[in-house]
Amino acid sequence: MKELRYIESEVKKMLTPRRFEHSLGVRDTAVQLAVKYDANSDKAALAGLTHDCAKDLGYQEMMELVKKYNINLDEISRLEPSLIHGPLGACIAQDVFEIYDEEVLNAIRYHTTGRPSMTLLEKIIYLADYIEPHRDFPGVNKLRNVAKCDLDNAMILAFDNTITHVISLRGLLHPNTIFARNDLIVRLKPKE
Ligand code: FE
Ligand code: FE
Repeated sequence: MKELRYIESEVKKMLTPRRFEHSLGVRDTAVQLAVKYDANSDKAALAGLTHDCAKDLGYQEMMELVKKYNINLDEISRLEPSLIHGPLGACIAQDVFEIYDEEVLNAIRYHTTGRPSMTLLEKIIYLADYIEPHRDFPGVNKLRNVAKCDLDNAMILAFDNTITHVISLRGLLHPNTIFARNDLIVRLKPKE
């Protein structure tokens, strides 16, 4: 892996100032969640810092990199290019930052859609992205409070929020988001 200082300065160059501040917020929130839920805080910091590294690329550049890294885009990601920065960010993190830890790469890869059977680190990055201090949307404080005591229920709330928001925009829902939510609901259901 490249030095952390180098990674941070590269991420800063790749992003708008606002997005860089967001990334630092995600990093710090992810570390807090990692401490709380007994995850590896170094991995949480690294994934949080780099999760949006592909987000400020232009469409052309993004599509060239998708080709370069041989990323197989599903139909919804093709129609909704804002979803691409997850999988593409994981490829850039590996290629440019020389991060080979699959846990970290998957946390970056799935931070936009979620997926079924998410790992602890994937959940932490997904939530940190949602509740970092710069975020401001109706319900964010409730989500922050739930995230402090119940990670899985916070995830369900976050998915509900995303799904409702996408529906209000008449947007496309990524199936992984639905699968991820169903998966957690089934897991949390009390057994009869
Ligand atoms: Fe993102
Ligand atoms: Fe983000």
